[in-house]
Amino acid sequence: MPPSEHHRDEAPELTRPHQIPKSRSAPGYKSGITAAEWYCHYGECEKKYRRLQELIRHIRDKHEIPRKCFLCDMEWTRTEKIRSHYITRHSDQLTNEEREEIKRLRGRNNTIHFFEGW
Ligand SMILES: [Zn+2]
Ligand SMILES: [Zn+2]
Repeated sequence: MPPSEHHRDEAPELTRPHQIPKSRSAPGYKSGITAAEWYCHYGECEKKYRRLQELIRHIRDKHEIPRKCFLCDMEWTRTEKIRSHYITRHSDQLTNEEREEIKRLRGRNNTIHFFEGW
């Protein structure tokens, strides 16, 4: 049995501190402050991204799937758009109550839920 191998096992690696590359302190960021994180807030999605661009792309790909207006062929991805579309284009087909309810809608899921429940 060669003694050299046994000896190598005992050599503690911790005597020399690891050199951790300081990748976080990239130029442009103050040290100690990590880059901003962008959280997706759709439903139960908890994705987060370092760059706003990536978050926007994720939202477009995963959440802003085009849907059609329930009264015509207009396609929409943003809830603000469908709400103002209903209120301006289909105003005469809505009751006052429905119009007020549409104005109060918040969030894509709530909006879809409202229109699908029609
Ligand atoms: Zn998401
Ligand atoms: Zn429409």
